[in-house]
Amino acid sequence: MEQITHLIGGERLTSHRTLEVANPATGQTTRQLSCADSTTVEQAVAAAKAAFPAWRDKPPAKRAQVMFRFKQLLETHAEHLVQLISEEHGKTVEDAMGELKRGIENVEYACGVPELIKGEYSHNVGPNIDAWSNFQPLGVVVGITPFNFPAMVPLWMYPMAIACGNTFILKPSEKDPTSTLAIAELLEEAGLPKGVINVVHGDREAVEALVDAPDVKAISFVGSTPIAESLYARGCANGKRVQALGGAKNHAVVLPDADIDNAANTLMGAAYGSAGERCMAISVAVCVGDETADRLIEAMQPKIAELKIGPGTDKGLDMGPLVTSEHREKIAGYIEEGVRAGADLLSDGRGLSVPGHEEGFFIGGSLFDRVTPEMSIYQEEIFGPVLCVVRVNSLDEAIALTNAHEYGNGTCLFTRDGEAARRFADQIEVGMVGINVPLPVPVAYHSFGGWKRSFFGDLHAYGPDAVRFYTRRKAISQRWAAPFEKAHAEFNFPSGG
Ligand code: NAD
Repeated sequence: MEQITHLIGGERLTSHRTLEVANPATGQTTRQLSCADSTTVEQAVAAAKAAFPAWRDKPPAKRAQVMFRFKQLLETHAEHLVQLISEEHGKTVEDAMGELKRGIENVEYACGVPELIKGEYSHNVGPNIDAWSNFQPLGVVVGITPFNFPAMVPLWMYPMAIACGNTFILKPSEKDPTSTLAIAELLEEAGLPKGVINVVHGDREAVEALVDAPDVKAISFVGSTPIAESLYARGCANGKRVQALGGAKNHAVVLPDADIDNAANTLMGAAYGSAGERCMAISVAVCVGDETADRLIEAMQPKIAELKIGPGTDKGLDMGPLVTSEHREKIAGYIEEGVRAGADLLSDGRGLSVPGHEEGFFIGGSLFDRVTPEMSIYQEEIFGPVLCVVRVNSLDEAIALTNAHEYGNGTCLFTRDGEAARRFADQIEVGMVGINVPLPVPVAYHSFGGWKRSFFGDLHAYGPDAVRFYTRRKAISQRWAAPFEKAHAEFNFPSGG
C-alpha cells in the first residue's frame, strides 16, 4: 500500500507508527500515513532552522518569483489535485476545484510581497535623523490544519509566511493528507530551496512536539475549538506568537421581506455543500415570524429530498460522503438527540445508501424545525448536513440570539431592507458578515477570522493580517550629520520643536 511520507529538508522520510487513510466514498483504506514522533519533529525544525538565514536574505522579489511559478504549477496540476482531494475528503470535484482556486488566490496575494513588506519611512524626524520601520521574518513558523480544506487552509498560511522570508513546517490533517503534501511538493519544482517548506504528518504527538519546540517562533492553527483553545494557551505559555481558528455555528437570519426563493437556493449550498463540513457552513436559519419560517421550509424541503449524493469524484453531484464513519455516527447521534429534545425532524438524512457504494460514509441532508437554544443541536457544532430552523419574533431577537452563542465565525442576513442590514452588520458579534451573501468568506486581500470562541489570538488568517502575523516590526532611527555638527549631551527627553 502507498506510504505517505514526511518531507523534511527535501527528503522523503517515513516513520514506524502509521495511520490508515481511507476513501470515504468506498470505506476502503487506500494509503498508510507515517506519523511523526518528537525525533522526526526535531529533524524538521532543524531543517527549517538551517534553511532560514539564506532564505531570509533572499530579496523579496526573488521570493515572489517562486510564488509566481508555484501558482502556475498549481493551475497545471489542478485536475490531479482535485481528484486527490475528493478521494480522501469526499467532497465533489467541482467543490474541490473551488477550494483550490481560493487557495491559489492566496498565492497570488503573496506574489505582491515586495510591496506588502516594504515598510514605512519618515525623513527628518529630528535634526539629521531619519526613521523607518521594516518588517522582518520571524524564523521557523508552523501551520497545523484541519481535514475539511486540505488544499485551501494550508495555502492561507505558508505562501505568505514563506514569501515574507520565514521557513515553514506544515502538519496537515491525518485524515486527508495526500493532496496537501502533493501541493507542498510543487514548491520544490517552483524553485524553493530545500528546507524552506517541510511537511510532517501525524496527530497529537507531532502537534505537541511542534508547539513545544523552542526554535518554533509562531503557530497558525485551524481546527476545532477545544484544540484551538488549548494549543493557543500552550503556544503562548511557550512564548510563541499564535493564531488559532476554531469551530463555528453560523446563523442565517431571514427577515419577512427577504426574497425567499433566493434565500432558499443559497441556503441549500451554504448548509449542505461539502456535506456541511465547512467552518462557514450555515447550520442555523433564524426566521423572523412563523410565516417566514413556513415559506422557507416549504421552499427548501423538496430541494433537500432531491440532493444528488454520491462519490465526490463523479461529476455533477451536490454532496459526497462524510470524511470518516466515526464522523457519520457522530452526526447521526446529534440527529437522534434533536428528536429526543423535541425538535421537529422534517428531513432525515440517516440510513442513506448509495448504490455501488454501500460501504461509503454517506448521510443525506437533514432539516429540523422548532429548534430552541437549550438543545444540543443548537448549541454544538455538528459539522454535517443538518440545518436547524429557529423561530423568533423580531430582528432584535435574532441579533440577541446570535450574539449569545459561544461561536462567532460567520453569519448572514437575508433582507431587502437597507436599514435593517446596516443595523445587523453593526450590532452582530461575529467576525464575518454577509448581507444576502450566505458564505461571506473574505477574498484573499482581506483577512479571515471569527470572533468569540471561533478564534483565539489577534491577527486573523491570510490577507493583510497575515503579513503582520508572519513578520515583526523593527523601528530604526538613524542620524547622519555633517562632521562640523557635533552632538551635545542631552539629559532631558527631547521635547521637540
Ligand atoms: P481537529 O481539531 O480535529 O484537527 C485539526 C488539527 O489538529 C489536525 O491537524 C489534527 O491532527 C490536530 N489535532 C487533533 N487532535 C489533536 C490534539 N488532541 N492535540 C493536538 N492536535 C490535535 O479538526 P478537524 O476535525 O480536522 O476539522 C474540523 C474543525 O475545524 C471544525 O471544528 C471546523 O469548524 C474547524 N475549522 C475552522 C475553520 C476556521 O477558519 N475557523 C476552518 C476550517 C475548519
